[in-house]
Amino acid sequence: MEVKLLGTGAADGVPAFFGNSRVSDYAFMHGGKDIRTRAAAVIDGHIKLDFGPDTYFQVVSHQTRPAEWSSIVFTHSHDDHLCEAELQYVLMPFTQEGYAPFTIYGNESVLGRIQARFPDWPFELVLTKSFETFEHLGYQITPVAAYHRLEEDCHNLIIEHEGRSFLYGTDTGYWREPTWEFMAGRQLHAVVLECTDGFLRTTYHGHMDAREVIETVNRLVSIGGLRTDGQVITTHHCHAGNATHDELEAFLKPHGIQVGFDGLSFEV
Ligand SMILES: [Zn+2]
Ligand SMILES: [Zn+2]
Repeated sequence: MEVKLLGTGAADGVPAFFGNSRVSDYAFMHGGKDIRTRAAAVIDGHIKLDFGPDTYFQVVSHQTRPAEWSSIVFTHSHDDHLCEAELQYVLMPFTQEGYAPFTIYGNESVLGRIQARFPDWPFELVLTKSFETFEHLGYQITPVAAYHRLEEDCHNLIIEHEGRSFLYGTDTGYWREPTWEFMAGRQLHAVVLECTDGFLRTTYHGHMDAREVIETVNRLVSIGGLRTDGQVITTHHCHAGNATHDELEAFLKPHGIQVGFDGLSFEV
């Protein structure tokens, strides 16, 4: 599988949309890997993961073709991952299409928002639930429960295809025990994990900082969830984590963890 990270920023991006911070200033000055649009990815050019407010910019910057998407798979309904208003451009009069060419997979909150905005529109909507695998064009996709937004079944996603497997864990928090039990022995080839809080230690449960990422990776390997030679790449970085790309790289590289950036593509 080819995984392309289209965006690796948290809710308000890096530099922060309106906020001020050292990392935001650095990103404005230096650009490059420190510019992070809202987190999203695409698998093999056609399985789109999340559809946030930066999608159009990501399409033109990183050359993914929406006309070729077979699906959009949502992790959860936070605004940095779901911008349903932009779905209107897939149908007439903006295209010649009378229906959307992709299937939309999402939890109750995601589908509820899309249905509220577009009642009776010809979207193919499929409800997803944590720990229930579904198949899409030969890919096995399994949402697993994140520990993120308690009033919603937020997903991380295990994607398997032709004997290869990886986990997309944006907005995950440090998992609760049922998810750890589910991950045991999975022998994933790669994981993408959020590193929202960077060097900032907080008491908020819904996101991870760099130390928690290391802890998660070590525990995953110890229970056989991730192969010892598995790739680990970060995403969903917040400017408030007070870590530039290079600083975070210096911290995580000794642990075998690669810091993700917008446009990074890798083979699983
Ligand atoms: Zn998010
Ligand atoms: Zn979120």
